Amino acid sequence: MSDKIYDVAIIGAGASGITAAIYCARAGLSVALIEKGLYGGQINDTTEVENYTAFESISGLELAENMEKHVKSLDGIDHIYGDAKNISRVVYHGIAEFNIELQKDTIKSKTAVIASGVKHKKLDITGEDILSGSGVSYCATCDGSFFKGQHVAVVGGGDSAVESALYLSNIVERVTVIHRRDELRAEQILQDRLFDKNNVEVIWNAEVEEIKGDKTMDGLIFKDKNTGDRVFLDAAGAFINIGVEPNTELLKTNYLTDSEGFIYTNPMMQTKMAGLYAVGDVRWGSIRQIASSVGDGAVCVESIIKYLNQQ
Ligand code: NAP
Repeated sequence: MSDKIYDVAIIGAGASGITAAIYCARAGLSVALIEKGLYGGQINDTTEVENYTAFESISGLELAENMEKHVKSLDGIDHIYGDAKNISRVVYHGIAEFNIELQKDTIKSKTAVIASGVKHKKLDITGEDILSGSGVSYCATCDGSFFKGQHVAVVGGGDSAVESALYLSNIVERVTVIHRRDELRAEQILQDRLFDKNNVEVIWNAEVEEIKGDKTMDGLIFKDKNTGDRVFLDAAGAFINIGVEPNTELLKTNYLTDSEGFIYTNPMMQTKMAGLYAVGDVRWGSIRQIASSVGDGAVCVESIIKYLNQQ
């Protein structure tokens, strides 16, 4: 275990965590930026970003790469690969310190920022886990190319589902979107694009109940909520985009979060625990946009500097 005590430990290098790290480094604070996967987080799963100011259109991969280059160009940040399993606040002789446990190491810091984002929700139905990677996917950009010229289903009606369907429609032969209601939740501009596609159909008021297949997926069964019929749909893939849940398993207490695990903060990103902040998608009330995550990252640093000056 290293004896170094950072001013700030940031858990997660998505848009909010990276921005917090950049602002901290520029303010002369020592930073541990902890990430277990790709810099940019979920931005890497987005085909085209078209609503981030100053970029009419930029691929998610390119934007994530730019963010990584930017944060890695600054001094004062230690880039630590690791999965934060537990975070605790300990007080020695009146001085508070955070201990962030990774698999093999513990990072110590005076303040901590949870920027751990969200993960894809599962349907929790028969066949979903066993056929994951053999037909079932949660990321069209990552896996779409495996289904060239085939028929695939997309489950969900939000921005992610419609973006997936649009992306897949350019690769596969046919896309069937299955949605549990009779109207989509996605942004109108995305819906308009979807309805313009002649190889996309939408099945309304339908609930997917089972994924069928042995080694690879043969299709799925959905329940038609109007008739009650269980219907088999022949499809080589199912892209499940039904929303997200927070990555907050590292918090071993529930007074900081709502019942789903999203972390409560005040407008300065301060949680109910002194010295602990939360930013980006993991924060209760976040609108889960790149722009808002970047904003959260900048705001929390102002708060951190005030806190450190008072210690
Ligand atoms: P979302 O907006 O929460 O939408 C989830 C969709 O899945 C809804 O249509 C929901 O149906 C459906 N659903 C939820 N649970 C289901 C279940 N058990 N079975 C079947 N369907 C289910 O999630 P998202 O599309 O992943 O988006 C998450 C956030 O990221 C949103 O804030 C979104 O705006 C943002 N985002 C933005 C962009 C962008 O700006 N370009 C791109 C992607 C995501 P109901 O409608 O009936 O609830």
